Amino acid sequence: MKISIVVPCYNEQEVLRETCRRIKDVLASNGLTDHEILFINDGSTDSTPLLLCEFAERDRTIKVIHFSRNFGHEAATAAGIRHCSGDIAFLLDADLQDPPELIPEMIALWQHERCNVVYGVRKSREGETFLKKLTSKLFYRFFNAISDVPFPIDTGDFRLIDHKVISEFKRFSERKMYVRGLLTWVGFRQMPFFYERHRRFAGTTKYNYRKLLRLSLDIIFSFTKRPLKLALELGAASVIVSLLLVLYAFVSRYVSPLPGWASTVIIIIFFGGVQLLTVGVIGEYIAIIFDEVKRRPQYIVDELLNLDTPVDKDQPNRR
Ligand code: UDP
Ligand code: MG
Repeated sequence: MKISIVVPCYNEQEVLRETCRRIKDVLASNGLTDHEILFINDGSTDSTPLLLCEFAERDRTIKVIHFSRNFGHEAATAAGIRHCSGDIAFLLDADLQDPPELIPEMIALWQHERCNVVYGVRKSREGETFLKKLTSKLFYRFFNAISDVPFPIDTGDFRLIDHKVISEFKRFSERKMYVRGLLTWVGFRQMPFFYERHRRFAGTTKYNYRKLLRLSLDIIFSFTKRPLKLALELGAASVIVSLLLVLYAFVSRYVSPLPGWASTVIIIIFFGGVQLLTVGVIGEYIAIIFDEVKRRPQYIVDELLNLDTPVDKDQPNRR
């Protein structure tokens, strides 16, 4: 059985040697000799590309995909899954927050349960701020409340996927991709694996709050049409409110009249807000459609190391 390990990297020079060593150690000490480690260099500007070239030269099982610029974590992970050739694959962050030492346990669970996906569920998250943990928890709960497919809470990318899931994933051609969402969406038998998430080994997070907010909005708008339906519900609610206001206007005419301008201003602001919100929601979907119809590639590969065939059409293998 061949194992692929997919590791997206963006400016990870501080951790890469340690990451590579620990993955190699755990595979060697468990007799998992048939393996490949795919590092995706997502347009790093530090010495990440040099380090990866050095690894690939030393060891044929280390494969590298260099992107032409930074295309984001999701694109990097997607490229890794598309290029992997294992019977099972692991998705692992480069920063060692998800310990590679858990790989054998996850394989054991996968074999015991005869499932297709083993997804890591974080029992605890060391070294992350209270605000990040809180916003992440709230987001997943909110998302599940509006999403058509329920997604497991406290789950990141760290997971094992088998060949069935890998080959289904390779059929997806959407540009705006939320990988862990799609890997849940495909279905099959999926089992949770509880673990303690460590703090980053070194370096800093590549996600600031602005990027996280953008990611959250992308997830919502690419996975559920609920916000569009919300526009209809808001419209209905405003009709009811306006009817109530008519009633109120009649009553107040005889009891204690509000100055005319106040009620007018309130109504204008209220309906203006509702309309802008609705247009904004529609705009988000149009932006997604805009991106999809252009059919631009999700990422551009600059160079492949130790990988012979480019899997994406029109992507040259510049060696
Ligand atoms: N990453 C990437 N491209 C990006 C941002 C991040 O490939 O544009 C990689 C990064 O190198 C790491 C993983 O995605 O391996 C997760 O990123 P990070 O640890 O910064 O996120 P956090 O764990 O803080 O959510
Ligand atoms: Mg991290």
